[in-house]
Amino acid sequence: MRSRRGRRVVAAPGPGGDGVQRTASEAGLSRAWYKPRDIDRARANIDRHGWARRLHDGYRQSAAFYLQHDSECLAAFVPRQTPLLTIPCPKCGAGPWYWGQLSADGQTLSCTSCETAYTFDPEDRTETWNVQSVLRAERIARIVEGLDAPAILYQLDRDRRCAERIALIIERFAENFSTIA
Ligand SMILES: [Zn+2]
Repeated sequence: MRSRRGRRVVAAPGPGGDGVQRTASEAGLSRAWYKPRDIDRARANIDRHGWARRLHDGYRQSAAFYLQHDSECLAAFVPRQTPLLTIPCPKCGAGPWYWGQLSADGQTLSCTSCETAYTFDPEDRTETWNVQSVLRAERIARIVEGLDAPAILYQLDRDRRCAERIALIIERFAENFSTIA
């Protein structure tokens, strides 16, 4: 099976050569950290134990960010412009490190000293040390840091929406950072 861009996607012939398309995991080819037996055990723990259900709920809450935002919004977290780590707060000069707090939705960066809120501008095309470049860096960190939740949920709940969101973000990185090895 090939994607619209011509790359091979995850599907392998069945072990018995029956021609049935299976995922790499189903065909025993998974290189994932968690193997199918680990996922089976996790599901059993969720059925039996409150601590496992609380963990599961926590992953669902973390993954909600990726499911509640549409493709265009998520793709914008991985911009074509350069992310630059930090500058001092343009208003009060705090920093240059640790002065900004990114909002839960990733749209604003607020100064913890003067409380000025800087809003992400998707139209910004500057390539210099400014607050938009810091927002880009913070937003990339935000979108990557939470990816384990939809990844685990895809395996536990077989929720394809989670895999689709992750694939979108990986593809965006491949497109915009194609020269980084
Ligand atoms: Zn400030």
